[in-house]
Amino acid sequence: MGNRRTATLSDLDSGLLRGARVLVRVDFNVPLSSDGEVGDDTRLRAALPTLRDLRDAGARTILVSHLGRPKGSVDPSYSLGPVAPALGRLLEVEVPLLTERPGSPGLEKKIGSMGDGDVVLLENIRFLPGETANETELAQDLASLCDHFVGDAFGTAHRAHASTDGVPRTVRKKGGRAVAGHLVERELRFLRETLARPERPFVSVMGGAKISGKIDLIEVILPRVDRLLIGGAMANTFFQALGLDTGESLVEPDRVEMARELLERAGDKLMLPVDCVVGDTISDDAQVRSVDRTDVGGKDRIGDIGPRSRELFSREIRGARTLLWNGPMGVFEATPFAEGTLQVARDMAEATDGGAVTVVGGGDSAAAAELAGVADRLSHISTGGGASLDLLAGKTLPGVEALETIEDAGGGEGS
Ligand code: ADP
Ligand code: MG
Repeated sequence: MGNRRTATLSDLDSGLLRGARVLVRVDFNVPLSSDGEVGDDTRLRAALPTLRDLRDAGARTILVSHLGRPKGSVDPSYSLGPVAPALGRLLEVEVPLLTERPGSPGLEKKIGSMGDGDVVLLENIRFLPGETANETELAQDLASLCDHFVGDAFGTAHRAHASTDGVPRTVRKKGGRAVAGHLVERELRFLRETLARPERPFVSVMGGAKISGKIDLIEVILPRVDRLLIGGAMANTFFQALGLDTGESLVEPDRVEMARELLERAGDKLMLPVDCVVGDTISDDAQVRSVDRTDVGGKDRIGDIGPRSRELFSREIRGARTLLWNGPMGVFEATPFAEGTLQVARDMAEATDGGAVTVVGGGDSAAAAELAGVADRLSHISTGGGASLDLLAGKTLPGVEALETIEDAGGGEGS
């Protein structure tokens, strides 16, 4: 018996795609600038490998995405209007935005007149109430537009919506294929497979604002790692569990007990900062000093890990063969508190150069890697926030579960 894995675009015979209508669920939930243009095209670029392959294979590509959270009705401020031309420029092909509703003869007609290699983008799918409600009727209307389905919206894969769940299931029922695109394939490879069989030492660096949002991840990752380095405001709650004074720092009082219990269970696997950068405020013009963690108090606000902690963490990171980073070490958005986080990013890049596999999850950590100028030196920066946390925490993602699986050895058909 081989390994059962999610089927991907690479598993499809390209002959199958020529002239076929392929509906691709992408995540084009991009930030728009004040003048209504695409503010950051990272998510458009992330979809390019899949879209180029489909074009090369001669498929007729129908793109479906959401943008923001319109309330199930048309709201022009969430239109995908600016996205279609931005994508067209990247793909070097005209990408029309189709505003007709799924199930309407108008849309059917336009899709019917597509040529091989053409790409169209449907209007924001969350303009329809059936999307988040995962309504059968919408799923059927969308499924009737296509022969096959490709799931490449990693950032939305943790939601069971019509376009992520209902459509692939309906497409499979009528005999079509439903597979993961290259982006989802890559996310699964790093977040699920690499980290399930890590080369050791396996070190995880965690931080950010809250323990509460990441407690599931800590629980799952702790038994698997050789070291867990904790910084950010998350560390403050652990400091309190150690009986330390944290002054006016951000803590989660209702999680102190949980932190104490984790400390006991983790033993010396878990490393906390030994010193901190504290300020009178957390801002760009804060008056700051570095102090031992035992010397924090009064009006101090902890904004970053201190220089000795940077050293300690640095050594652990550079010695690792597999690294998972989720959450900044401090308020890196403010210059006086950025160094701990930037150092982690640089050390991750050094480790990668030395042959380690490095994975970053979390939007703020990804932004920090960009700020440090090392983003393209890391093995993988996940594009999904909630989805990557769920996946790392061992949960299944509805948008992945709805796709075919394939037996690796023996090459059985998808189920
Ligand atoms: P990610 O998006 O990488 O998962 P989070 O969203 O969990 O990260 O946390 C990022 C936020 O945590 C940042 O905005 C940062 O300013 C904040 N943060 C980090 N350390 C501290 C701290 N000591 N005090 C207050 N906020 C902090
Ligand atoms: Mg965040």
